[in-house]
Amino acid sequence: MNEADSEEMFNHLSARGGIITDNLDEADIVLVNTCTVREHAEHKGVSFLGRLCKWKRANPARIIIFTGCAAERLGKKLKKRYPYLDILSGAKNIDNFGRLLDESRLFLPAGKMHPNPTPLLAYATIMRGCDFACTYCIVPSVRGPVRCLPCKDILADIERKAQAGAKEITLLGQTVNAYKDGDVTFADLLNRISEIKGIERVRFTSPHPIYFTPEFLSAVKHNPKIARHVHLPVQSGSTKVLREMKRGYTREIFLEKTDALHACGFNISTDIIVGFPTETQEDFEQTLSLVERAGFLAAYCFKYSPRQGTPAAQMPLLAQNILEERLDILLNRVRGLSDNAYRAQVGSTQAVLMETPHKGRTSGNLWVQTQNAYDVGSVVNVVIEQCEGTLLFAR
Ligand code: SAH
Ligand code: SF4
Repeated sequence: MNEADSEEMFNHLSARGGIITDNLDEADIVLVNTCTVREHAEHKGVSFLGRLCKWKRANPARIIIFTGCAAERLGKKLKKRYPYLDILSGAKNIDNFGRLLDESRLFLPAGKMHPNPTPLLAYATIMRGCDFACTYCIVPSVRGPVRCLPCKDILADIERKAQAGAKEITLLGQTVNAYKDGDVTFADLLNRISEIKGIERVRFTSPHPIYFTPEFLSAVKHNPKIARHVHLPVQSGSTKVLREMKRGYTREIFLEKTDALHACGFNISTDIIVGFPTETQEDFEQTLSLVERAGFLAAYCFKYSPRQGTPAAQMPLLAQNILEERLDILLNRVRGLSDNAYRAQVGSTQAVLMETPHKGRTSGNLWVQTQNAYDVGSVVNVVIEQCEGTLLFAR
């Protein structure tokens, strides 16, 4: 999501004459786009801003722009602490970013937008914000309530990207499958995007389990362009903890969803939080058993990080050593399961969208290396012959 937001903000800079460099010494402007979902992420963004002090001092005409969720959460406090910061733009403000640049008078007037030459893989934000209130999560407060983008704008944006060479589109939103525009549902949107000339694959992230209904699955079942991979965060395997997190589903409901998705050929990855304040050893064991049962391809595991202003931040924390111990055990368990899932691919035939002459991804989001070279952007059917870690080798 932040990559897509960065791209959107870069387009505004590019319309004012900006070009990208990866050499800080050569840059006149630095845009730092930040995350605040965990304390560690926020700290990374803010400490980078601290290090930019020297860069700015070397040439005071240089411009620093600080954006995203940490900018939203910390707000004006940042200007006080880092007086050399030129522009602060929180995550809720992304639609006004162009106007903010103009008002700053630091830039040339905007010319015509020349979005980046579209790469093979492109993003499309279809929804901003979140209407849930998971008790550990800061996202609703920094990104605001849900706003779905109009379907016709999304289709026009993707048509433009497809004409410029995009073959795979990833749709973005915090509860992306809750998308609705009038009568247009998420399944309708996926099916319409698949009809756009040049589009070979449609991915989306992150869906919420409660919106994976049987109606959704039957609407997409016959559409092979919808990638057979979903990233479906579970957060915990204990119904009690899920209730305290206000996730809106039980362990059993989640497993019904993963069973239905597996039956339609989807690979599933997930996010898990260990050490939520009320998590007992028994709750943690429920998470371990859910991981075994759900058949995840991969799981991103995080230690619980209290976020100021969220309901869970009022609860007493578990000891850090408990969090670390649980994280270690979970990571080990996940690694073993993921190895098995990859090895199970050997012998299968897969359609691979080539991202380099020798490498591409399957519909289920697995990396494949091919013996022969193919055109970048072509879709080739290959037989998986071998597996090393998370890389498959094919003929
Ligand atoms: N909208 C998505 C999640 C977005 S946040 C969903 O609901 O599924 C991305 C991930 O960060 C979450 O899935 C969660 O695992 C993690 N996360 C969010 N808040 C956290 C916190 N306070 N501590 C630790 N991990 C957190
Ligand atoms: Fe956060 Fe829950 Fe919204 Fe996901 S659904 S962004 S975890 S509040």
